[in-house]
Amino acid sequence: MATEIKSLDGLCIHTITTKPLEFELACSKYSEIGVKGISIWRDAVADLDYRTVKDCLKKNDLSPVSYVRGGFFPALESEKRNVAVDDNIKMLQEAAEMEIPMLVLVCGAEPGQSLQTSREQIKEGIENILPRAQELNVKLAIEPLHPMYADTRSAITSLKQANELAEFFNNDFVGIAVDVYHLWFDDDLENQIKRCGKQNNLFAYHICDWNVPTDDMLLDRGLMGEGCIPLKKIRGWVEEAGFSGYNEVEIFSTKFWESDMDVFLGKIVNAYINHS
Ligand code: ZN
Repeated sequence: MATEIKSLDGLCIHTITTKPLEFELACSKYSEIGVKGISIWRDAVADLDYRTVKDCLKKNDLSPVSYVRGGFFPALESEKRNVAVDDNIKMLQEAAEMEIPMLVLVCGAEPGQSLQTSREQIKEGIENILPRAQELNVKLAIEPLHPMYADTRSAITSLKQANELAEFFNNDFVGIAVDVYHLWFDDDLENQIKRCGKQNNLFAYHICDWNVPTDDMLLDRGLMGEGCIPLKKIRGWVEEAGFSGYNEVEIFSTKFWESDMDVFLGKIVNAYINHS
């Protein structure tokens, strides 16, 4: 069973969760309510220089957890695949400049070819950026996505596939981001989380909930406790697998983005303590 959550020390929020807030305001609001970790989406800091970002994190006592999101390796033409590799290398450099220790990979898929071919291109893409990731000391976290995104977002649609891919590399810089939204229904989830931890590949844990019914397959994620994901059970498995990192709240939600951000942040804290 999951341990009881007694403090906010393990709480991290993805900037996309509070999308309407500009980066610096988001940082101060997170800090005010006692959040300790922040995962930074590229768009959120695109207009800021690295120094500003680092100063802002320091001032608000926030630890950068992940930089989101690289990947999208598959494409029909090799030139496009090269562009993706270059862009991922650029993201690794950006992460290193801002001292963000990990890049999340939404691996990508190309609907004009088989999933198998896309998977091979994902492997190739990771192979191509791994040396640079090591030089820059930025880890790569493969995030398996729900199969409903297998058309264009990710050919890696289960934790088993992600485990196989990470184990192929067998490298300290390649691991996995387990996101409950994408994996909660998997009848082999407990075993695959165990396997992931055993290989030291469990790098990140993302939380939210699955709304019933779900109005939009991308932008209607629920707050923890609102939906049907057995969050405490999954966190128990993740902790038993040796994970002691942040619980990263990652919610894409038109509904919440239209709501008051201070109220929403209060709800996140409450949901984290009581329902995660
Ligand atoms: Zn995620």
